[in-house]
Amino acid sequence: MSTRAVQKMKLSDLGEFGLIDLLKKQARGSFSGIQGIGDDTAVLPLSAKKHLLLTTDMLLEGVHFTLKMPAKGIGHKAIASSISDIAAMGGIPKYAVISLGAPSTVSWRVISQIYQGIRKTAKKFHVGIVGGDTIKSQKIIINVALLGEVKRDEAVYRNGARAGDQVFVTGPLGRSLSSGWHLRFVPRIAQAQYLAGKHKPTAMIDISDGLAADLGHILRESRVGAMIEESSIPRRGKAYLKDALYDGEDFELLFTIPASRAQKLMGKNTRCYRFYRIGEVVAKEKGLQLKTSNGHLKKITIKGYIHF
Ligand SMILES: [Mg+2]
Repeated sequence: MSTRAVQKMKLSDLGEFGLIDLLKKQARGSFSGIQGIGDDTAVLPLSAKKHLLLTTDMLLEGVHFTLKMPAKGIGHKAIASSISDIAAMGGIPKYAVISLGAPSTVSWRVISQIYQGIRKTAKKFHVGIVGGDTIKSQKIIINVALLGEVKRDEAVYRNGARAGDQVFVTGPLGRSLSSGWHLRFVPRIAQAQYLAGKHKPTAMIDISDGLAADLGHILRESRVGAMIEESSIPRRGKAYLKDALYDGEDFELLFTIPASRAQKLMGKNTRCYRFYRIGEVVAKEKGLQLKTSNGHLKKITIKGYIHF
């Protein structure tokens, strides 16, 4: 497409990932880190043994939350979704800055409860809140920027999945929004530490846009395909298959691991955590396929939450 045609496009034509691709092109050359835009966090040089992780997330009233939801839960979500991104790299969170935009008509009670939610979760995960900014805005906006670190030999990216690897998730999927899970989920830092330290996943991401979309990111970055099994995908409550595939905001980890190491994650050997094997990585040409409960193979569309 010509540059001029691109200039005229609206964000709704580009979609979130089209937009990220264009921003990534503009940023080319300005970046000298280890991993730039396009993984769960940026990965930057820190020391001989560790990388620095940096991520940011923004929640907007009316888009990501409404004031009918419990304000403490909104605060929890604002920081926990960033902590979840640090987990997806195999790292641990360290320091956050919190910025807030709000209309002058909002009561202090609402703001203080949002902050209480943020602080409680920060404390639980040993994250120091070290600053931030406030502005007046039309709707409430909460922005969290979070720094973390990861041992260099434990960092897990999206691009390491290979054909034959087994695909796992850390918990049930679907209906996160309707069940309220998105306001109280536990970022899987402990599981990620256990996996990165002992079992070396080849690729990992946290499920924010939905299983199909987030597995799609791993497949795209790793240049592979995958086959997932309907009967193996754990679902939350009464969630249907389509909910588990497309709802998003589950904040479970989705990872791949060579078949030789996968066995150890199943059954009795994992005393503390439960891991669900949902399928396997296949050649790129096969794309993303679903093996239905009656054994048929069906192609699935890689779609999820539409941001624009
Ligand atoms: Mg993520």
